[in-house]
Amino acid sequence: MRAGHAHAAGKDLLGVVKPMRRSLLIVLLAACSSPPKPAPVEPAPVEPAPPAPPPVEPVATKPEPPPPPPGPNADEWLANCRNWIAQAKTAYQQLLDVKDKRTIENTLETFNEIGRNVGNAAEWSGLMHEVHPDAKIRDAARTCEKEVSQFTSELLLDKRAYDAIKAVDVAKADANTKRFSLITLRDYKRAGVDLDDKKRARIKEIDDAMTDLGQQHARNIAEDTRFIEADPKRLDGLPPDWIAAHKPAANGTIKITTDYPDYIPFVTYANDDDLRKQLYIKFRSRGDAQNETVLQKLLELRLEKAKLLGFKDWADYFSDDKMLKGGKNAADFIERVTKLAQPRAKRDYNELLAQLKKADPKATAVGDWQKAWLENQVKKEKYAVDSTAVREYFPFDRTLQGLLDITSQIYDVQYVPATDPRTWHPDVKVFDVMRKGEKLGRIFLDMHPRADKYKHAAQFGIQDGVAGKQLPEGALVCNFAAGSELMDHGDVVTMFHEFGHLMHHVFGGQQHWARQSGVATEQDFVEAPSQMFEEWGWNFETLSKFAKNKAGETIPKDLVDKMRKAEKFGLGTQTLQQMFYAAISLEFHRTDPKKLDPAGQLAMVKKLQAKYTPYAYVEGTKFHTSFGHLVGYSSAYYTYMWSLVIAKDLLTAFEKKGLLDTATTYKYRDTILAPGGTKDAADLVKDFLGRKYDFKAFEKYLSSE
Ligand SMILES: [Zn+2]
Repeated sequence: MRAGHAHAAGKDLLGVVKPMRRSLLIVLLAACSSPPKPAPVEPAPVEPAPPAPPPVEPVATKPEPPPPPPGPNADEWLANCRNWIAQAKTAYQQLLDVKDKRTIENTLETFNEIGRNVGNAAEWSGLMHEVHPDAKIRDAARTCEKEVSQFTSELLLDKRAYDAIKAVDVAKADANTKRFSLITLRDYKRAGVDLDDKKRARIKEIDDAMTDLGQQHARNIAEDTRFIEADPKRLDGLPPDWIAAHKPAANGTIKITTDYPDYIPFVTYANDDDLRKQLYIKFRSRGDAQNETVLQKLLELRLEKAKLLGFKDWADYFSDDKMLKGGKNAADFIERVTKLAQPRAKRDYNELLAQLKKADPKATAVGDWQKAWLENQVKKEKYAVDSTAVREYFPFDRTLQGLLDITSQIYDVQYVPATDPRTWHPDVKVFDVMRKGEKLGRIFLDMHPRADKYKHAAQFGIQDGVAGKQLPEGALVCNFAAGSELMDHGDVVTMFHEFGHLMHHVFGGQQHWARQSGVATEQDFVEAPSQMFEEWGWNFETLSKFAKNKAGETIPKDLVDKMRKAEKFGLGTQTLQQMFYAAISLEFHRTDPKKLDPAGQLAMVKKLQAKYTPYAYVEGTKFHTSFGHLVGYSSAYYTYMWSLVIAKDLLTAFEKKGLLDTATTYKYRDTILAPGGTKDAADLVKDFLGRKYDFKAFEKYLSSE
C-alpha cells in the first residue's frame, strides 16, 4: 500500500489502523475484511504456462432475504442483524446435534452456513457503524458487532465443533472441499482448540489479556497528544490555510500538537529547524510513560502462546499461515530488500544533504527531523510538478466514469445502476455487476465526505458470495471531491487501489465455501492486487482514456512522466525506513522478552536504526512506544513490502501488450481474482505468470529512475 491510505479487504487475524476489520474469530468462519499502508513485490523460474482455468461463470443464485435494510429504524436494523446471528446459532446447534456419521453434508455444509450468516452480521455491522448517518443505527451496529464477536469466540474455542469437522472424511471430496476442511482445522489449531483442557484454559487467559494490553497500548498512544508552543513569527514556510487555522492563544503563542493534521504539514513545510526538531521529539516519544511495560507483557504472552502451540517463537507462529513463512525467512526478506534499496538510498541521502547545505553550509549530516522538509524542497526545485495543474485533468465524475469504463473493458463486465439500491445514504451509488445478462455481484460507492463518516479510504465487504446462496456485495468508502470538483492525483491512485480490492471481492466471490470467498487469500497477499491496480492510475495509456481538462485536452504525456519521477524521489531512503520498522516489528518477536525491558527495547531500536537507516538516533525519542502496528501487525510489518514485491511481479505480465490487453486482463481476472481463497497465493501467482514469483521486477523498480 501507499503511504497515507487505509484499506480494507482480506481475511486476517490482525486488526490494525483500520484496515482489518475482522477479528480472528470471524476470520475463521467466513470471508472478511483488510489492512492499511506502506509497501512493495517479485517473479521466478521459467516453466510452461499451465492451462488457464475456465472463465468465471456466474452461479445460479437463489435470492436470499436481503441484508438488513439501512434505517430508518434502529430497532428493526438490530433485529435483522440479530436474525443472522440467530440463524448461525441454529446451524451451530444442528452441527453439534448430529448423531450419525459425520459427512460433508451434515457437518461441513452446516459449518458453512454458520460462517455465511455470522459473516453477514459481522460485515454489515462493521460497515454500518463507520458510515451510517443515523447515530442510533451506528450504535445498533456496534451492539450487533459485539454479539457477533461473543458468538464466534464461543464457537471457535469449542472443541466439539473442531472434533466434528475433523471426523469428516474428505479423502474423496473435490479439491476445494479438501482445502476448506484443511484450512478450517488449521485455523482451529492455531487458536489452540486441540490442546488439553488446562492448556486451552491458559490460551483463553492469554488471549483475553492480549486483547486488554492491545487496547491499553492503543489508548496510551491515542490519548497522548503532546504539543509545543511557538512564536507566530516562526511559522515561515507553512501554507497560509495552516497558519490561518492556528491563531495565537492569549499568551501570544501558537500551539502545535502531535496530531497528524498539525504534525505532518509542520515537519514538511516549516523552515524553522529548531521547532521542527522539538515537535519531532514530542511526536516520537508519545506513549513512553506506559507502553514499554505494556509491550514487554504483551511480548511475554505472545511467546508463551506460540510455545503452547508448538512454535519456537511468535514470529514463526504468526507467519505460519502467510505466504512468507517463518521468522528466519522474514528476516532474510528484510535483508534482501535493504540491500536492494541501499544504492538508491545513498543517492537520495546525498541529495538531501546537498539541499541541507544550501541552508547550512556547515551541515555534515541530515537529521531524522529534517528529511521530510528536505524532500519537499528537493521535489519543489528539481522535480517541480504543479499539483494544481495536474488536478485540472481529474474532475471526480469523469475520473470515476473512466475507472468504471476501464474495468468494464478489461474484465468484461457492465455496471448497471441498481433498481433496489437498499443504500444508507442518498449519495451512495449502487451498481449491479453484470456479465452477459447475469449478475455477478453488487458494489456500493460511498465516495464523498459527510459528518460522522469514516475518515479514510477503504474497501468493506458487505456480504461474501456463496454459490447458490448469496452474491458478493462490497463497498468503497472514501472521502473524495464530488461532481465536477477536481481530485488530487494521489486520490485518483487511492481510488484505483481500493477498486482493486473491490474487484477481488466480487470476482472471487463465486465460491461454494464462505471461507474461500473473495479476498480470502493469505494476509500478506491481500494488498498485491490493489497495489498492482494502482498502475492503471499512473500509466499514460490508461490515463489518456479519461484524464481530460475542461477544454477537453488530454493530460500531456510529459506531465505524466514528470509526475512519476517526482513520485519516486526518496524511494530509496523511504524503503530503508520501512525496513527499519519491519525489523523492529520482527526482532521484538524473535528476542527473549526478558531482555526487552524498557532499556532493552530502546537499545534494540537504536541498534536497528543505525543498521538500517542513514539517520542517527535522536536523543529523547522512543519510536517504539507509539508504533501501533506492534499490536495489530505484531511481527509482520514487513508484509506491506512483501505484497509490493508480488504486485510489481504481477505487472510484468502486462509489459508486452499494455494494461488494456484483454488476453492478459482476462487471464489475471480468472487466475488471480476469481479463485478467491481456493488456492495458496503462490500458486495463483504461478498460474498467472507461468512461473514462480521472483524479485526481479521489484529490483528494477527500486533501481530505475
Ligand atoms: Zn489496500
